[in-house]
Amino acid sequence: MKARQAVFWARSAAEDDSQIHLRHLLVGIHQVAPDLFEKLDLKSAGIVFPPVADSTRISGLTFFRLLMGRTLPGEKHSREIPLSGESRNALHLADKLSRTLGARSIGTVHLLSGVFHADEITREQLSRAGLGEPAINALCEKYEASEESQSAHEIFSGLPAARSSRCGIGYDLHRLADGRKLIVGGIEVPFDKGPVGHSDGDVLAHAICDAVLGAAGLGDIGTHFPDTDPKWKGATSLLFLEHLRGLLDEQHLVVTHIDAVVVCERPKLGPHFPAMREALARALALHPEEINLKAKTNEGVDAVGRGEAIAAHAVATLESSGL
Ligand code: MG
Repeated sequence: MKARQAVFWARSAAEDDSQIHLRHLLVGIHQVAPDLFEKLDLKSAGIVFPPVADSTRISGLTFFRLLMGRTLPGEKHSREIPLSGESRNALHLADKLSRTLGARSIGTVHLLSGVFHADEITREQLSRAGLGEPAINALCEKYEASEESQSAHEIFSGLPAARSSRCGIGYDLHRLADGRKLIVGGIEVPFDKGPVGHSDGDVLAHAICDAVLGAAGLGDIGTHFPDTDPKWKGATSLLFLEHLRGLLDEQHLVVTHIDAVVVCERPKLGPHFPAMREALARALALHPEEINLKAKTNEGVDAVGRGEAIAAHAVATLESSGL
């Protein structure tokens, strides 16, 4: 919550400016999390905080306009103040950092770190004031144990869900053969049969991969990881999911939720779901709670019902990171 408020305050501080600059973001962070700046000598480092209007009220819609630097239909009043390129970069870095740390949300400390890394002058000034990289790292560690939180997509999109969300569907099936490892969702499940495939034949990871690629408009798994390429022979399919993260970054998209169904007659997969969710979440830089898994049998019907194959369906929800 505080991170979002910090951007609101930054906008207020930039009222007399043409753009929201890094110094305004610093003002916003200082406003909502003064403890991060404790013991710092910002003045002697040349960082002066301009005053902020205390009557500021910013709605989610305004926040979106602010991020996108444009007015939405029907919104004629209020002057738009776009983020400067560096500020945009700072928010992007904050998003990346929180994901790298495995945090489910972006905090003021991530924003501060984003500002720190987005501009050399600010970095030098902050270092001079005592907020160098070690201090930032220590604050990030402290943040992990704190309660302050704000989900990444709320901070970065602010757009009503119906307009910013994209959905993708994925499906996969592999024949099962005796004496092969059964890998589902990145986890080896004890069983006497396993999938026939070029990679590890992980139907769940493949279905999720296709769902994410579909939502991003980036084709399908065969385009990115052709089974004619020896590079992917026997590869763990979690690598495919990890590879997606870079592709999504380029498109300014983030995965916000995955829902999937695995269909097989045997073995029972439910007990392995917690481990699968952990593994998939790690590969996609998500929180396990953002991945939902379900298991079905095929009631003895068709190849899947006869135990000759395993299949998976997945739906991925993506949102614009707003950057
Ligand atoms: Mg497959």
